[in-house]
Amino acid sequence: MNNLLNDFPILQEIVNDEKLVYLDNAATTQKPRQVLDAIRNYYEHDNANVHRGVHTLAQRATEQFEGVRQKVADFIGANNPQEVVYTKGTTEALNWIAASYGRTHLHAGDEIVVSYMEHHSNLVPWQQLALQTGAKLKYIGLTVDGQLDLKNAQQVITDKTAIVSLCHASNVLGVINPIKQVTRLAHQHGAIMVVDGAQAVPHMPVDVKELDVDFYAFSGHKMLGPTGCGILWGKKELLNEMPPLEFGGEMISNVGLYQTDFKAPPYKFEGGTQNIAGVIGLGAAIDYLNEIGLDKIMKHERRLVEYVLPQLTAIQGIEIYGPKDPRQRTGVLSFNLTGVHPHDLASALDMDGVAVRAGHHCAQPLMKYLGVSATARASFYLYNTQTDADLLIRAVLDAKEFFL
Ligand code: PLP
Repeated sequence: MNNLLNDFPILQEIVNDEKLVYLDNAATTQKPRQVLDAIRNYYEHDNANVHRGVHTLAQRATEQFEGVRQKVADFIGANNPQEVVYTKGTTEALNWIAASYGRTHLHAGDEIVVSYMEHHSNLVPWQQLALQTGAKLKYIGLTVDGQLDLKNAQQVITDKTAIVSLCHASNVLGVINPIKQVTRLAHQHGAIMVVDGAQAVPHMPVDVKELDVDFYAFSGHKMLGPTGCGILWGKKELLNEMPPLEFGGEMISNVGLYQTDFKAPPYKFEGGTQNIAGVIGLGAAIDYLNEIGLDKIMKHERRLVEYVLPQLTAIQGIEIYGPKDPRQRTGVLSFNLTGVHPHDLASALDMDGVAVRAGHHCAQPLMKYLGVSATARASFYLYNTQTDADLLIRAVLDAKEFFL
């Protein structure tokens, strides 16, 4: 996939006298010209508010904005574009599920189940919901190599469980969770299944119908789209019964002096002017990903992990977190070098032009579970090459020599 590089102007950047090797894709991804052009084209030719106007530009903007809803639905195998709600991102989507569905359905004594590997976005909203409703928050444990412990899941999920919420893929361990199996378990106990798909949708084919989940959330900026635009997908019957959270223009069907009727989903959740350019950019990102194919992207990332994982593991003092088998993971690799703080390691790699992340990755309970305060994290995407992997290994070896 080397010919993709020309589509990403930022990958030509020189950082600290070295060509940029961008390996921070789990945090956010770079944008191809096609996405940048779509946003620019909208502002240069079609800029108008959506839904409200009869004039030509308003119609053109509305057509594009609503067209992306269908594109998103097709991309994740949803039945109906009306099940696709635009949000700011995964965080907002998960907060809305907790605040709207959660507060109207949960009671004291009910249980919410998450795992130890959740991003704070899929944890803090449930903590708050538990505090507000008197529900209890419970955790599914992990196996020694950082996979979801399915045996433990069978014990933790009970008839008291009202909501199970898990990441599809971990932003730290890279592990892919068996969502279909856990969903079956949740449904057997009468619970709904929520999935944080922030690290899955950009990297593998996802079909919400096949998974049979109830809600699915993801972010556009982690899949080549712009920041500030994400998706909450929910089953229609659940969205129908959920109250809106933001009130104002666009989300109403009729406003009286003391009472208002709301539109049907998804519009009742989309109060005020939306991130129209962001949505159009996300549509272009989906076109770009579809043209290559998610299967191919997944295989490409897997090949890179198969190539780099043994080399990284072979460096003495390196500890890698998550499954050893590349088939069980995405392109996310978290690691530590004994005796070197991950921030120092990441700064040293940056001196070689290699951009990785260091820190708790918004997963402090997981850090505690792993017994570390932070890790370094390299995360690959479709535009990364074997040369990038080589440069990562060389930079880690350089850093080791420098610090130890
Ligand atoms: N969930 C996971 C697994 C993530 O990796 C992230 C972002 O890093 C989020 C949720 C939050 O996404 P956003 O900041 O785009 O809302």
